[in-house]
Amino acid sequence: MTASQPAAATGTAKPKLAFRPLPVPQVDVRGFWGDRVDAVAAKTAGILYDRCVEARMLEQIDPDRPSPGLVIPFHSPSPDEANAQGAEFTGSTVTTQMFWDSDWGKTIETAAYSLYRRRNPDLEKKIDAVIDMYGKLQQPDGYLSSWYQRIQPGLRWTNLRDCHELYCAGHLIEGAVAYYQATGKRKLLDIMSRYADHIASRFGPEPGKRKGYCGHEEIELALVKLARVTGEKKYMELAKYFIDQRGQQPHYFDEEARARGADPKAYHFKTYEYNQSHKPVREQDKVVGHAVRAMYLFSGMADVATEYGDDSLRTALDRLWDDLMTKSLYVTGGIGPSAHNEGFTSDYDLPNDTAYAETCASVGLVFWASRMLGMGPNTRYADMMERALYNGSISGLSLDGSLFFYENPLESRGGHHRWKWHRCPCCPPNIGRMVASIGSYFYGLADDALAVHLYGDSTARFEIAGRQVSLVQTCNYPWDGAVAIEVGPEAPVEFTLHLRIPAWCRKAALKVNGKMLDLEAATSDGYAAIRREWRQGDRVELDLEMSMARLFANPNVRQDIGRVALARGPLLYCVEETDNGGGLHRIALPRTARLEAHKEPNLLGGVVTLSAIGSRAETENWGADLYRPEPPATEETKLKAVPYFAWDNRDPGEMLVWLREG
Ligand SMILES: [Zn+2]
Repeated sequence: MTASQPAAATGTAKPKLAFRPLPVPQVDVRGFWGDRVDAVAAKTAGILYDRCVEARMLEQIDPDRPSPGLVIPFHSPSPDEANAQGAEFTGSTVTTQMFWDSDWGKTIETAAYSLYRRRNPDLEKKIDAVIDMYGKLQQPDGYLSSWYQRIQPGLRWTNLRDCHELYCAGHLIEGAVAYYQATGKRKLLDIMSRYADHIASRFGPEPGKRKGYCGHEEIELALVKLARVTGEKKYMELAKYFIDQRGQQPHYFDEEARARGADPKAYHFKTYEYNQSHKPVREQDKVVGHAVRAMYLFSGMADVATEYGDDSLRTALDRLWDDLMTKSLYVTGGIGPSAHNEGFTSDYDLPNDTAYAETCASVGLVFWASRMLGMGPNTRYADMMERALYNGSISGLSLDGSLFFYENPLESRGGHHRWKWHRCPCCPPNIGRMVASIGSYFYGLADDALAVHLYGDSTARFEIAGRQVSLVQTCNYPWDGAVAIEVGPEAPVEFTLHLRIPAWCRKAALKVNGKMLDLEAATSDGYAAIRREWRQGDRVELDLEMSMARLFANPNVRQDIGRVALARGPLLYCVEETDNGGGLHRIALPRTARLEAHKEPNLLGGVVTLSAIGSRAETENWGADLYRPEPPATEETKLKAVPYFAWDNRDPGEMLVWLREG
């Protein structure tokens, strides 16, 4: 196994306090996340491969087979739009899609982390074969795109705006880094390094190079990963170039459209806000457009800000963060209410039953939040990462790892269920790879500090100040907030341990080797800092009260006024028909009702449920009238809420997050 240390790209101006994630193989998770990772390793990873094969994706990438070909959608108004849509919006005859390389990239990434978790020679052989196909497909100059080599040859680099060319490269790069880290095999890493070299020879500020960037961000954060694992500065420089260049005038997408004989104004999505190229990134102050694209861009920006110590990027990111957090975020950590642009609409527009809140968007928010932590521990980002992790993202995967949500609404009348696959299958491998790599979100490692961002039963191994250190967390988080941490350096070593104190926690206590610490004095930005010479057997005990909370929305959110959501610790709750009967809109929860928490080890894989006495509007004595001058009678009812992430894992039925108050 290769467990390479995260390396700074040589030559970059590295800020003193850059915190980089630990590679996945350096953190073994148990408990809550252990169960989730096991489900991905046992089921999801194999399912992703099988579904990709069923969708005929192998035929597109295998140079030894005939090309499956492209059928232009018959209803398409123009070739440019057909190009924009790929073969996506077509009838039954069309099989190919321009972003399939990305699905392979994410499938390889999920498989890589799963193979690290659990040996699976059969799956490993299949993935090796896919990698061999990409090796064979790669052109002598390093270029690699199954779409432009096999489906639309001769058109490479002609439509970065719509055709996901660099996006696909990015996902294959992420897959390559993961496969190398988890299995030690570097064939795909070498393939993708050659492709990245090719891209660097075609894009950049130098005369004669293209001044473009991808319409769907992703290559930026992928190049940062590649730079960190290979130590190659030019990949970092290229990531920075793509970010710096975005939205500059003359606008690359205008010029590119004209060059292929198209009218730039005939853009399907009308505005470059859709892909966040409406302004240079440092001038952006509102989170707009396609939600996943925005999250990937901001993730790349945060990485570059971390690596270069770039405060101008950081300032822009903080502005964008504030905008998202205060105007456009679902309480579940879901984002992007609209299916139309798969993204953002107007401030406070957060419909519950029609919420798009794509799984990928919440996963993207986890990516962004985790990368903001590269610039130093701050619970404002870590709390959000945790919120999106435990709620709006993992809701997208069934408990057994076999079924998926694309949209994650906060209310269902009973018709919303998980599916096996999707014609645009971006979400399954995205949630798969995020869960399988969860260990890398737990910690941030700096030169003389380790930040603990997430709690969970686990063991981490890392090197600090030249010493190998193991760190064992023992806990039953998120169900219980008592966390014991044993620090085990091979020899005494001094460093700072930063421990996150979540903002939702009303009462916390911290002991080091049995001695109580003044938490307030030790805490800044929501992290308690303990600097000492750590010795074998040192023990930290953190006690976080798992507070239950009622949450209320800003009164400008018209869909949530007069409603309340329930939370406990990092988890958001919902009520389901299977526990509470139908007509969930008729239930109300009085402000004064006492909330109780119950451990239920046999429910939904073992969860804590919440209960309260509420009321329910009766329909029995109402009769046939549609309207009456008197309100309906009510009856007392005991309501039971389960964690939102676990909904739709039992009998199908209604679901509701925001309960009526009263
Ligand atoms: Zn998706």
